[in-house]
Amino acid sequence: MCGIIGIYQKNKKAESASRLAILGLFAAQHRGQESCGIAYFDGEKLQLIKQMGLVKEVFNEEVLTQIPSHVAIGHVRYPTQGSSNIGNAQPHLLNNLSGPMFALASNGDIVNYKELREDLEAKDVFFESQNDGELILKYIAYFHEKQGLSIVDSIKKLMKHFQGSYSSVMLVKDELYAFRDPYGNRPFILGELNDETYVFASESCCIDIIRAQFKKEVSPCEIIHVNATGMESIQLNPDEFRSRKHSAHCVFELIYFSRPDSVVYDNAVYAFREKLGKKLAEKEDIISDVVIPVPDSSNFIALGYAKELGLDFNFGLIRNHYVGRTFIAPEQTIRDENVVQKFNPLPGYLEGKIVTLIDDSIVRGTTLQKIVKMVRSHGAKEVHVRIGSPMVKYPCFYGIDTPTYEELIANQKTVEDIAGYLKADSLRYLTIDELKSVVQDQNNFCFACFNGEYPIGLKK
Ligand code: SF4
Repeated sequence: MCGIIGIYQKNKKAESASRLAILGLFAAQHRGQESCGIAYFDGEKLQLIKQMGLVKEVFNEEVLTQIPSHVAIGHVRYPTQGSSNIGNAQPHLLNNLSGPMFALASNGDIVNYKELREDLEAKDVFFESQNDGELILKYIAYFHEKQGLSIVDSIKKLMKHFQGSYSSVMLVKDELYAFRDPYGNRPFILGELNDETYVFASESCCIDIIRAQFKKEVSPCEIIHVNATGMESIQLNPDEFRSRKHSAHCVFELIYFSRPDSVVYDNAVYAFREKLGKKLAEKEDIISDVVIPVPDSSNFIALGYAKELGLDFNFGLIRNHYVGRTFIAPEQTIRDENVVQKFNPLPGYLEGKIVTLIDDSIVRGTTLQKIVKMVRSHGAKEVHVRIGSPMVKYPCFYGIDTPTYEELIANQKTVEDIAGYLKADSLRYLTIDELKSVVQDQNNFCFACFNGEYPIGLKK
């Protein structure tokens, strides 16, 4: 998934771009917890700070006092392309003879990574990581420096040849570029603070935290260039760069990934999730004593479901917020430990109750199985599981870590078998048609992990 931010201050003496970028990254922490970093212009050249760990751990007060800048980009990483190590963390920085001149942070995944990298390696371009952000950066830098293309033309060339998902911010010395893939797969927005500072970010919660105002979504196939003379948007026709007429926004951003207080693809995320819950309730035949979400991403789905049926809603499970998101943890062993450390039922509350337990999705099923067991062991009489999305049967190749078909329980088992595995009294998912009925403008969305129809191609 990952989160990105880019800050440009018109007043060069403002020098708080790096701090604002870090604040924005702090709000994007839910998008990746493995590593984080910023690149910024120090008045002469680009500087880079990146480390494994959370934003609040990496950017302590000592670091914050040393990074004055009027332009900066930042990244929080959730590993997909390339293993979990500092070499694959972003931003990536590229030196040339006069010092570091290019830096880039990107959210997404490139499906034809291997072939593009081999092409560049054949041109004597050297790679230090397995990360697609480095590939994007070196592709643009190569065509700019070695072939004499402008930065904008190099990005256009990239858009023609790269298949996949990329919302990207790039520094070329003290100039900022922002561009988004022709399918608009990952969210990407532009905000402005006091007519003085441009802010590019993955989600609106990242601009809210620095009190910037939402201006617009960066459009698919749009390249925005900001420098001392102002901002310029170069809007290319996405249909000339993609194999279908429509965008392919990731619908899972609305179901699970994005923060409920964000606006993503013009949808208030919390309201979208309430609608999922309402839709899920329409076919309900179990009247339970209480509706309980698996917190936090299912909270609004459960709320919408309970409201529609007029049932009691309660936070029967309390989440320990100091443990990372289960789905995001890169290793299975870490995921397993997280589950038992992460949730605890309200004492005595579940005793003798018929419980409807709402979750946003089932990917591997291991987490939910443990939660159902936990709810039962605290006295629930019946546990009925309802899922606010369809069965996740297919892996994602566009920036989400569901790498194999075998890992996806819905690819291997029927609904009845999954209910048995979870030891739930009943299990029901939202259907794809029900999900599509909630999504406005459904043609512009990707549903590939539910229906296997990959709009941006398959990983090669
Ligand atoms: S496959 Fe699923 S998770 Fe991946 S982009 Fe499409 S909807 Fe999103």
